[in-house]
Amino acid sequence: MSLAGKTVIVTGSNSGIGLGVARSFAGAGAKIVLNSFTDNDDDHKLAKDMSEEFGTEVRYIQADMSKGDQCRALIEKAGACDILVNNAGIQHVAPIDEFPQDKWDAIIAINMSSAFHTTAAALPMMRKAGWGRIINIASAHGLRASPFKSAYVTAKHGVVGMTKTVGLETAKEQITCNAICPGYVLTPLVEAQIPDTAKEYNMSEDEVIEKVILAKQPSKEFATVEQIGDLAVFLASDSAAQITGQALPVDGGWTAA
Ligand code: NAD
Repeated sequence: MSLAGKTVIVTGSNSGIGLGVARSFAGAGAKIVLNSFTDNDDDHKLAKDMSEEFGTEVRYIQADMSKGDQCRALIEKAGACDILVNNAGIQHVAPIDEFPQDKWDAIIAINMSSAFHTTAAALPMMRKAGWGRIINIASAHGLRASPFKSAYVTAKHGVVGMTKTVGLETAKEQITCNAICPGYVLTPLVEAQIPDTAKEYNMSEDEVIEKVILAKQPSKEFATVEQIGDLAVFLASDSAAQITGQALPVDGGWTAA
C-alpha cells in the first residue's frame, strides 16, 4: 500500500506503539514526523536511521503534548499534515481517593487534550488538501474500565468520544477519524508496571505477565506494535474511506468477553 507523498505526524513516537506506527507508515513510503517531549541526540539519530532504512523523509520535532500551545506548534512546524496519529500517552495506577492531582492533570492533558489541540490545528490543513486521516491511539480502557486507572480510563473514554464526534463533523470532507483500541502490547509503558505488580502479588515478573496481564486477553498473547501500525496504515488507505468515527479494538478478544 503506497502512501508516498503523504505527511504523517505521530505524537509520542520515540518508543513503543508510536514508533511502531511510524515505522509502518515509513514502510508505506510516507514522510514521517516523529515527536516526543525530549530533544536529544538519540531522538535525532532515530529519525536519521529510519530515513536511511526506509528511503523516505523522517524528521524529529520536539513538543510537549501536555501543553496545548506546543501541540498546535508541532503541527505548524511540520508544515503539512495529511495523516495525524495521536499516540502520546502516560499511565499511573492508584485508587481514586489517593490519585495525585498532578498525575491526573498530566494524564488528561497528554492522553486526551493533546488530541483536541493537534486535531484542531491539523484540520484546516486537511481541508485545504481535500483529504485527511486522524487516527487516535485510544485503548481497550476507552471501552471498558479497570480499577485504579481512573485518569487513564477517563482520558481514553474521552478520546473515543472525541473520535466519534470528529468523525461526524468531517464525514462529508474526505477526512476520517478513527480510534485504535489496543489491549496489552509489551512496551515500556506496560513493562514499567510489572515490577510493582510482582511485589504486590508476590509473584515473579514472568508470572505477572502470564497470570495478571495476559490472563485478561483471551488470545493469551500480546498484540504487537507492527499489528497496530498495519491497522493504522489500512485506516489511512482509500480502502478505509467509509470507516469513520469508529473505535477498533486490537485486544485478542478482551473487550468481546
Ligand atoms: P511508551 O511509553 O512506549 O510510549 C509513550 C510515548 O509517549 C513515548 O514516545 C513518550 O516519549 C511519549 N510521551 C510521553 N509523554 C509525552 C509528552 N508530554 N509529550 C510528548 N510525548 C510524550 O508506551 P506505549 O505503550 O507505546 O503507549 C503509546 C500509546 O498507546 C499511549 O497512548 C497508550 O495509552 C496507548 N496504549 C498502550 C497499550 C499497551 O499495552 N502498551 C495499550 C493500550 C493503549
